[in-house]
Amino acid sequence: MMLDDLDLGRRQRILIVEDVQLNAQILLNVLEEEYDVRVASNGVEALAMVKEQMPDLILLDIVMLEMDGYAVCAELQGNPNTRDIPIIFLTALEGDKNEAYGIELGAMDYIRKPFNVPVMKAKIRNHLELKRYKDILKRDSRVDGLTRIPNRRRFDEAYNEECSRAARNKTPLAVLMMDLDLFKAYNDTYGHLQGDDVLKLVAKTLYNTVQRPGDLIARWGGEEFVVLLPETTLEGACQVAERLRLAVYNLQIPHEVSTFEQFLTISIGVGASDDHDWKSYRGLLQKADEAVYRAKNNGRNTVAVYTP
Ligand code: GH3
Ligand code: MG
Ligand code: MG
Ligand code: MG
Repeated sequence: MMLDDLDLGRRQRILIVEDVQLNAQILLNVLEEEYDVRVASNGVEALAMVKEQMPDLILLDIVMLEMDGYAVCAELQGNPNTRDIPIIFLTALEGDKNEAYGIELGAMDYIRKPFNVPVMKAKIRNHLELKRYKDILKRDSRVDGLTRIPNRRRFDEAYNEECSRAARNKTPLAVLMMDLDLFKAYNDTYGHLQGDDVLKLVAKTLYNTVQRPGDLIARWGGEEFVVLLPETTLEGACQVAERLRLAVYNLQIPHEVSTFEQFLTISIGVGASDDHDWKSYRGLLQKADEAVYRAKNNGRNTVAVYTP
């Protein structure tokens, strides 16, 4: 597994938000053996802790001083980064009206005080299981099935975000488009299955060669890959592209029928902008794509820059 930002094997994390220490202690005692549990004693602290480390589930008291549970819930639901964290309200409040209100705010369920431990444990277990399935689904829908690196969907999400961020922060942005050279001929000579193995190896190599934490490499489709390079100038992008081109060449994958090299090679197109303009950033993919054709025309196994 190359995409381990979601470590699905780890213990799941629960955040308890409860201002009465005795209640928090009861929950902690019941849950800490099975889960990673942290406790916040008020709403403000809870929001800070969520920012620090995403929990898989939040048990949220309603009646608290300063910021009540409803306000915490509304804040978490209003933020795209925290919207998917399931919330269970802890309530001593009676009446369907309150329950309806909490569910409308986006909470998943209620646990009543005083606690009925077996019921509470079962509810928590169910919600955490659901959360794990959702995480798996989310991960798999953004990973390419063959190469196990991010897919186009994941790239598109990141690209949208980075275009906005670059425009907002007035930072440069670059995109590399990469296309394996004469790969149809490779398949024709060595067979499709070996072609698949080569795609996996190339993907892994590119993935490991792209270095900065914000960089994102994805399979664009077929024998094409794409790299997103935030805060990177044209010059920097060309350096990364050259490193990637060499990394593939250095794999020394024999390609008998290649007309110009004995090994499999890759052509790379570079699009970069520091216009601080959203539209210009959005156009980078197209530029990188056009630059790939230039690289092909220049004899393949090369890096080309888009120029109008
Ligand atoms: P060029 O240097 O101009 O890019 O030549 P090319 O042969 O690489 O380009 P073309 O677009 O004609 O062919 C791309 C080939 O990539 C076609 C197909 O056989 C191969 N390909 C695309 N996806 C896969 C895949 O998932 N597995 C395998 N084995 N081959 C694939
Ligand atoms: Mg309370
Ligand atoms: Mg192609
Ligand atoms: Mg090709």
